[in-house]
Amino acid sequence: MPELPDGTSYVAIGNDELGAPLKSGESMPCPKGCGESHVILGGKDKDGNETNMILAYRCGDKVYLCGVNGKRTKFKGDRA
Ligand SMILES: [Zn+2]
Repeated sequence: MPELPDGTSYVAIGNDELGAPLKSGESMPCPKGCGESHVILGGKDKDGNETNMILAYRCGDKVYLCGVNGKRTKFKGDRA
């Protein structure tokens, strides 16, 4: 299990909930609708290498999960 971006807690997500390909370092329009784009943050594996296993973004002072295993996840309330 890679280290999670700060503040992210454990989640379980089914395959049918995974969507479009997503990579750390890309940016995307804010799912929360704040009007900005956010850079996608990846987790790190045990050797300290960036991984796409867990993907998140920071909006304001919070970090939100947005992808698992290189694929986009959407959550209730996400606008984009
Ligand atoms: Zn935002």
